[in-house]
This record gives sequence, structure tokens and C-alpha cells, in this order.
Amino acid sequence: MINKFTMAVYNHAPVCVQNAMCGWAGRRYIKIRYGGEFDKWAAFYAESSKWSAAQLMEYQREQVGLLIRECFDSVPYYSERWKQAGLSPDDFHDLPDLAKFPYTQKEDLFRESERMLSTQYDRRSLIKGMTGGSTGMPLVRYMTKGECQRHYAIVWDRMRQGVSRGDRYAAFQGKEIVPASQDKPPFWRENRPCNQRLYSMRHLSPEKLRFYAESLMEEPFVYYQGYVSFMSVVAEYMAERGLVPSPAPKAVFCTSEQLTTSCRRLFETAWKTRVWNEYGQGERCALIQECPEGNHHVQMDYGVVEFEPVAREGEYLLAEIICTSFILHAAPLVRYRIGDRVVIDETAVCPCGRPGPVIKAIRGRIGEYILTPDGRKYPHISLIVDMLRNVRRVQVVQERQDEIIVRVVPFGDYSDKDEQYAARCFQERIGGGIMVRMERVQDLERLPNGKVLSVINRIPGHSRNHLCGPED
Ligand SMILES: [Zn+2]
Repeated sequence: MINKFTMAVYNHAPVCVQNAMCGWAGRRYIKIRYGGEFDKWAAFYAESSKWSAAQLMEYQREQVGLLIRECFDSVPYYSERWKQAGLSPDDFHDLPDLAKFPYTQKEDLFRESERMLSTQYDRRSLIKGMTGGSTGMPLVRYMTKGECQRHYAIVWDRMRQGVSRGDRYAAFQGKEIVPASQDKPPFWRENRPCNQRLYSMRHLSPEKLRFYAESLMEEPFVYYQGYVSFMSVVAEYMAERGLVPSPAPKAVFCTSEQLTTSCRRLFETAWKTRVWNEYGQGERCALIQECPEGNHHVQMDYGVVEFEPVAREGEYLLAEIICTSFILHAAPLVRYRIGDRVVIDETAVCPCGRPGPVIKAIRGRIGEYILTPDGRKYPHISLIVDMLRNVRRVQVVQERQDEIIVRVVPFGDYSDKDEQYAARCFQERIGGGIMVRMERVQDLERLPNGKVLSVINRIPGHSRNHLCGPED
């Protein structure tokens, strides 16, 4: 995490120094993600990618057995709950036995993150991270460097088809790398060690989008990667004007949010490229990959994903996913209800030959833009949510362009001070003179399907755009 002082120095530095600081952070990421055990796990996943369904299930059985024993021995949250339920490690023999164990709810991660730590690890050696902001629920998570390296090893083995580590790429994430006060391009910074150009999410106004488009047309990026909501603002601008990157990127990788059919078409049209959907999350509990046939498959050597039927959707099954991660041992997740759903074709066998059920679509996190008084679109509030204190859930509702209503489901000692701090975070981050009205609520507004949108935009005439188009 970057402290206030470093951020203040960064914000006042010239662009070349900011680029150097991005590069410095990039070198640190490289060391954490690709050092240590990365090569060992890369070799492992290269091998396990060739395993049959039977081999993968045997591996899963063995891994779950080990994990359950570890949790019984060393993780207070699990051992206490499981003992209360009359369970012991001997209750697990094979994968169907996993269903005997209680769910781990998101709420538990929120309330009991400390008790979910294994006593086998020195807490000071763990990487602490915030996640869940995109769902409006900030969660603290811990992992070891080795676990982080294992995660990136499988990401690079499975999720980055057709490109290589080190290829030049454009990143559309929420990082605040360009000061909000900056009025002239470049609205991006360079992370040279990672060969990455990071675009700013805070400058998406009609007059500035021209510079984003020109930069994408001038720079031969091998691929783009980022939030669907952020990329769709840029892609829409380019598609409407017929601006096409040349050469086209080989691929676009969509992370963190649900990729709707209309968004996929938008990226394909605007950027003349292959779009790859993926499902992963900050919790590191499951990984689902799109295959060349356009179906999706669970990475069975990353964890077990159980499917709880929710409803029929014509010939398909809508199911909630329950995740048990093999990556995490310092803060394990067993039968975690992350709240996301998938659509499964139960009878299909995918021509690509990958084992497991054929997933037709992933129903993950979706959101709408905030329109700012100075005419920008602000697509993603997860970074702001991650900064807040004593809040359980957050949702932004916009009815007028000069104001947002921030609904908070409070937690613990949520005070007036926390509320003022939250209002300030939203006001400063979004900028443009937006007014923030805070509201304390018992629960958040839901869509008919039960999902919670992080941002609801009710401005008359505001096109719902591609983000909330018909679901797949
Ligand atoms: Zn397939």
C-alpha cells in the first residue's frame, strides 16, 4: 500500500518522475509476483494443464483433505465452527463430503478475518490487501508471497492466451496515477519494467477521451487489460468515431467485472480484436477461463467450485458458485459463498476438451457510471470503497449530475466522523465539484435477480450503456 506522504510527493512530481515511481512500484510487483516460487508453480501448472478429468479430481480430493486437516489444526474460525457442527477431519473422504461442511459467508470474512488466519504463519510476513470494493463490501485479505506467486503462475499458464509476459500492454485499472488536477495529456503513465502503460480513470471527459484514442492508435500494444466499465468508455468513444488502433491488439482481457454480450461486441467492433472473458477475484478463491470455443471452464487445479442450483434459464441451469481455494493456506477459504453465479449447459461437452461443466456465462459484478458535473464518466468505485472505515456495504445512487447519494450499511462503531471521512473520500476521488449526500441504510437496493449494483444511475436520459445490457 502507498502511504500519504509518497502519494503527496508523487502528485507534485513532474511526469518523468511519476513514470520513474510507477516503474519502481512495477519492479516491486515483479519481485513479489514472479520471484520465489513462481517458476516452481509455473512448471507445475504447465504439467497439470495436461491432466485428465480423473487426475484433476484425484488432485482435488487430496488437496481438500489436506486443507480440511490444516484448518482443523490451525485456523480458529474453522476448527471451532466445525467442531460445534460435530465434524472432524475424518468426515472428509471424497469430494461429495465437502458438502457436509458449513458455508463461509462474505459476512464472516468481514467480521472474522483475524480468526481466519492460520496459526502456522507469521502474520508479519503476510501480504495484507483490501478487496471486494467492486461489490461494495470492503474485505481485508491476507496471503503469503508464495501464494501470490502460485496465483500468477496459473494466470500466466491459462488466462493470457496468445500473449507473453513482457509484451507491451495497456492497462485500464483504477489506480490514481495521474493527478486529478492535471488538465493536459498525457493522461497515462509508464511502468517500464512491466512494459505497461497505465491509463487514468479520472479523466474520462469527452474532450480528453480524444487523447486516449490517439494514444491507443499510435502505440502498438500487444494487448489491453482492465475493468470492463473503464474500457467501455474508451471503446465507445472510438467506435462512435470509427477510430481503430493499428495494428489492432491481439487480445483484450476483461478482469474484475461481468462482460456482457453488448460490451464484448463493443470491444470487438472498436478494437478489431479477440476479447477474452475471465473470472477471478481479489479473494483468490476460484478461477474460470474462457476457452477458444467461447465457453468457460473452472480451473480445477486452482480450487473446487461447487454449483448450487438457483433457477432454470431455458435449457440452462443458473447456479451460485461455492469456492474452496487451493491457493490459500495462511487465510484459507473453504466453501466460500462469494455471491456470483454462472449459467451452465449441463448436457454439453466442449469441443476444446477441457474437463468439467460447460459454463456459458458468468454473472458477476456489474456497475454503472457516475456522471460528474464537469462531464466525465467515473466508472469504478472499488478503490474508494476500499478506503472506508466501519462500513459493511456501500452503494452509490445518482439522480442529478451534480450530486451522488452514498448509501452505507454501517458496521460496528460507524460514527459521524467516519461518515464525514467517507463523504470526503468520494468527493476528492471523483472530483469535478460533485456533491456527496450520505445515507445510512439497513440494506441496499437490489435488482430483481437479487444482485446489488455498486452504482445506480437514474439521471434522466442517461444511457444505461453497455454495462447493464441484456445478460448473456
Ligand atoms: Zn472449452
